[in-house]
Amino acid sequence: MIKINECYTEIGESYLFAEIARRVGEYKENHPDKKLISLGIGDITQPIAPAVIDAIHKATEEMANAKTVRGYAPDGGYDFLVNAILKHDFLDRGIQLEADEIFVSDGAKSDTGNIGDILSDDNWVAITDPAYPVYVDTNQMAGRKIELLPCTPENQFVPAFPAKTADVIYLCYPNNPTGTVLTKEQLKKWVDYALEHRSLILFDAAYEAFISQPEIPHSIYEIEGAQQVAIEFRSFSKTAGFTGMRAGYTVVPKALTAQTAQGKTLRLNALWKRRQSTKFNGTAYIIQRGAEAVFTPEGREQIRKVIDYYMENARIIRSGLEALGLTTYGGINAPYIWAKTPGKLTSWEFFDLLLHNVQVVGTPGSGFGRSGEGFFRFTAFGNRENTLEAVERLKIIHI
Ligand code: PLP
Repeated sequence: MIKINECYTEIGESYLFAEIARRVGEYKENHPDKKLISLGIGDITQPIAPAVIDAIHKATEEMANAKTVRGYAPDGGYDFLVNAILKHDFLDRGIQLEADEIFVSDGAKSDTGNIGDILSDDNWVAITDPAYPVYVDTNQMAGRKIELLPCTPENQFVPAFPAKTADVIYLCYPNNPTGTVLTKEQLKKWVDYALEHRSLILFDAAYEAFISQPEIPHSIYEIEGAQQVAIEFRSFSKTAGFTGMRAGYTVVPKALTAQTAQGKTLRLNALWKRRQSTKFNGTAYIIQRGAEAVFTPEGREQIRKVIDYYMENARIIRSGLEALGLTTYGGINAPYIWAKTPGKLTSWEFFDLLLHNVQVVGTPGSGFGRSGEGFFRFTAFGNRENTLEAVERLKIIHI
């Protein structure tokens, strides 16, 4: 007899984007003549940098030749990519890491979801709220107990320490969905907490490339002691338009240890290596060559231009919403603008209002967790024309 993982019966359907699609679909069916603009989903719209495309073409040609064709990639990534990451993202920024502490993957979703494989289901897990849904869902799939840490305007979106000492803490900065960041001092408090309580911080830095203020940390390893307590997740998805191509990486420092139930100390680096080499067969060679090109001088310059383009959209959305009298957060170091819904409207009521009155689609904040109720997420990943038109349309709303 087949016995299922009972935890799956408790987590329910993946509700948010399915419900958005349902409401949008119904509206379109009843109003086929209306043009909808989406400022909802966090996916890219701009083409991938020419330097990346050139590298991908070149790598594809290599696959057509018996002398240069490549088969299975190394589990943790090709040296050329690992060394480029190591140099540009860490050593050049004064962070000492080694190549075997970096694990190239097919993206941060898999890694933030899979990391639980090496952690006991007995861990007490603290997760900021609202949050990227993968953290809560994957821990519920494993049956772990979770404490949510509200991030709201009342605490300037800086989570307070959990009521019960957490074994594992998820932090995502720059944050999806709120677009807010932590300063070094604020992040240091969490590193100190983890050092004191022997907790693990899972630091999701998928939006690191969007940081514009020089004092904001790009990596948790900018904080002293963090290599003893933190795993960091990075992604090429938003940085360089790899959402459809799939590449990211995870840093598991060798200084980071954890205990077995018998009190034996083990390195999480060795466990993650073991996990990946068993369950993951590497990111495609062609894609890794594309990712390598992200770090070339041309690649960096081209990617910077695309990020600047999105961040100009963010500025347009932010100032448009503020001109309407809405209170907004984020949008300065992240491609997301987190707006307080007007009056006492719930997130979904505001969603319906925008859909029905101005045909603009955003994301209801309550879909990211209970502290997201009364908020709404706009993304800056649209093209300029649609972004300008959406902001123009919003002006007719009376709030
Ligand atoms: N982490 C956060 C906070 C995200 O918002 C996303 C994607 O939206 C991801 C991770 C997933 O990134 P990837 O495309 O690398 O799987």
